[in-house]
Order: sequence, then C-alpha cells, then structure tokens
Amino acid sequence: MVRLFSLMLLCCIVLSPALVFCQDKVPATQLIYNARIIDVVAGKIRKEKAILIKGQTIAAIGDYARLSKGVPKQNQVDAQDRYLIPGLWDNHVHLEGQALVRDNEALLPLFLTYGITTIRDCASDLGLQVLNWRDSINAGKLVGPTIFTAGLKLEGKNSIWKGDLEIENETEMNRMLDKLDSLKVDFIKITENTLAGPLFLASIKEAHKRGYLVSGHVPLELTIEEMLDAGFSSVEHSSYLLRLGCDENGIVEQLRAGKITRQEANRLYQATFNQETADRNYARLAKKGLTVTPTLIGGRQLSFLDEDNHLQDSMMTTYLTKLYTDAYQWRIGRMANETAEQKADRKTRYRFGVSQVPHFQQAGIRIIAGSDEAALNTFVYPGESLVDELQIFQQAGLKPAEILRTATINGALFLRKADKTGSLEVGKTADLVILDADPLKDIKAVRQVYGVYSRGRYFDRAALDGILADVRSVKQKLDAERASK
Ligand SMILES: [Zn+2]
Repeated sequence: MVRLFSLMLLCCIVLSPALVFCQDKVPATQLIYNARIIDVVAGKIRKEKAILIKGQTIAAIGDYARLSKGVPKQNQVDAQDRYLIPGLWDNHVHLEGQALVRDNEALLPLFLTYGITTIRDCASDLGLQVLNWRDSINAGKLVGPTIFTAGLKLEGKNSIWKGDLEIENETEMNRMLDKLDSLKVDFIKITENTLAGPLFLASIKEAHKRGYLVSGHVPLELTIEEMLDAGFSSVEHSSYLLRLGCDENGIVEQLRAGKITRQEANRLYQATFNQETADRNYARLAKKGLTVTPTLIGGRQLSFLDEDNHLQDSMMTTYLTKLYTDAYQWRIGRMANETAEQKADRKTRYRFGVSQVPHFQQAGIRIIAGSDEAALNTFVYPGESLVDELQIFQQAGLKPAEILRTATINGALFLRKADKTGSLEVGKTADLVILDADPLKDIKAVRQVYGVYSRGRYFDRAALDGILADVRSVKQKLDAERASK
C-alpha cells in the first residue's frame, strides 16, 4: 500500500504533466467562498459570496453557511475576497501547421494558465487534428480549453492557405459542406482569397440553410449587408467593417460592372471613409445581428515591429518552440523593404482600426474578443495575445465590463451556447477564474490569475505553474530533438 502510494506520488512528481492527468476525477462537490462573484451580464459584483460546484456544473450560488454543508474541507477554496469571473474565451485562434502537431498539443493547457477555458478555432490545415483534440478534451482525456472549431474552411481553387476545401461550383460546394457535416464542425468559415463572390454568397446561403453559423472574411464583390441577408453570422477582422464608412454599394456595383479594379476599390475604401456614414451603417447592420471579431493585436505587432523588440518575450524565450516561431519570419520578411512612409501608414491604419471599436459598441454590434493567434501570425502568442487584445479594447475606450463580456458571454451568445456557458449561473459549466484584482476596474486584472476551474477541475496557482513548467520542458525537448536532426 505504501509502495503503491509512493509510486503514485512519484508519477505526479517526476512527470509533472501527470500532475494534471493524475487529478483526472473531478470531485463530486466543491465550494469557492469569500469570493466577489462577477455577474458579467450586469457588469456588477453579486451579493452572494459562495459558489457550489457539483461535478462539472455550477450547482448553486449563495451563502457559505447554506452551501458548505457536506462539502469536504479539502474541496473548499477560500478566495479571500478575490474576484471570480467566468472562464475567458479566445474567439479566434488557429491551431495550425502540419509540422507543429506536437507543439500545438503541448500548448493546449497553456490557454488555461491565462484563464482561457474556451477557444474558437477558425480553421486551419490541422482541422482534422483539431476535431480530435476537441473530442478528447470533451471526453476528459486531454487537458485544455473547450474547443469549438470550423475544422477546414471553404475557399476557391489554389488559395494561399494550406488545407482549405477548395470549390469552384455549387456541386463542389455541396460536397464540401457534406464533408463538414460528417465531421460535425461547430460552424462554417469562408474566406475570399480565390473564392468568387457569387459562389461565396451561395456558400453562405447553403451553410445557413443547413443550420450553421457562418463566419469569415468579406470579399470585395459582396456588400456586408447582402452577406448578412444571406445568413452570414460574423465578420472576422474589423478592418472589413471600415467599408461601411463609404459608399459600399456604389463601390461594389462599379467593381462588379468592371468599371474599377480591385485595387481601385481598396483605394476608394481608404480614401472616402466618413464617420457619420459608418456609424449609421454600423447601427443598421447591428439590428440585422452583425457580430464582429476585431482581431487588432496582430496589426499592432506588425505596425510596431520597428519599435518593439520581441526577442526577449517570454513566449519567444521560454514557451514556443523554435519551429513554431520560425513561421513568424515570413511576414517580417515581407515587410523588410517597406519605406518610412509605408511604415507610418501602417501605424495610422492600426490606430484608425482601434478608434472604431467604441463605435461598434455604441452601434450595438456584438463584439467577440479573439486574438487570431496562429503560428503564421507574427508575435501573436497563444493565451498572451487575447489579454493584449482586451487591453487594446480598453485603450480604445471600452469600459471594463463591456470588455469582459466580449471575452465571456458574447462568445457563448454568438455560438448559441449561452444556456450552458459564458457566465456564472446555476446550471452552467463550471469554467471559472479567480483573479487577484478587480477586472471591472481595470481589465488588466485578467493577468493576475490565482486559480482556474476548467469543467469543474481546479488548477490552483501551483498547478498552473506546473503547466507552464511542462510547456517549457516540451519546448526544450522538441527544440533539442529537431536541432540534432
Ligand atoms: Zn484568423
């Protein structure tokens, strides 16, 4: 018996990843008390100070005296007046790279250390692998955030992205949508690199008819409004919304009639923006249910490459493999020959994009926070970049309560999962984060993670640090292995 126990202990100490796997079972009842429980919908701290968790579900919210009955002491956490929020969502990531399967898998638990308990994967060349990870996490076999994924995305022939489902006509479109049906993806993603406008629109209609939410980019040949009318659900990257400050209908019409080139259309969009027109159109399309994932952090990282040195970022030095960050180089290389004017332009464009966020909010567009974290997206790190994105929202002028919603309940509402997740309510999944500071005062507080519950499984600070240590050792191992080849 003693030997068995010491063997178990050994397994937890020697293979610290096992620390995570050894605690496989979620206790029947757990209690968090002395907590300032944040109601993200109301943007307020609740009167009640204790949350009872049964299995993977929030069972009650109330007072310690009533809820603590029958909960073993070792399953109780005294939050000591800390702040309790729902687990965060990164609503736009890509787990990508055929050569980076082990890297991405090792990074899954890293999201939890940032309090991110849900990610929305917006398709990649690893789509089939991501579906497996999603199912393994759902089955409790793998530690990581809950994943909702588009799997593979629809595109035209010979797109620049790897692994796309390339279509040229409606027959191929239907065949690919059948495939996505059989893969049980959570939503459909469509992009516009080589996909023609009419087939893009037909794909939205068909995906919508099949009951899917449809996310994606905005092709130059279509207006955002006609896409929404066809069943489009979310615009990924808010730069597309800036078209709403122009005569979008007129520009699209001229382009379709062959009167202007794509380049001219883009130039017109840049040159003719009017804030009043934009605000009016934002409000109009908000009423049609428009959701946007701004993804601003990537633009910031690129715009300030000449000022910021990222080589000492802990993600670069400690957590991400060399092969993972090697992929950052392609964008840096592409920008190497930019003139001073082009660099200044890029910064202006970034700042202008940021300035629109409060206008989206004001107009009633649903904003969901997403980082666009991906191996191809330069210095847009897993976990870290969502927190950066939230801080950009704050600099832009959004209130902390509004920002908190973009990274919690709004994602759940968007994916029609708000009855099960996204806020701290009885009956919802026990995804919770304990913070040392008040995120309703300053969103930066989400950096101060004290503990995380993921589907009822508790990771205290030591366990979270254990995850970080594991990620670091996997990085070292993979780097060494690859260097020796
Ligand atoms: Zn993306």
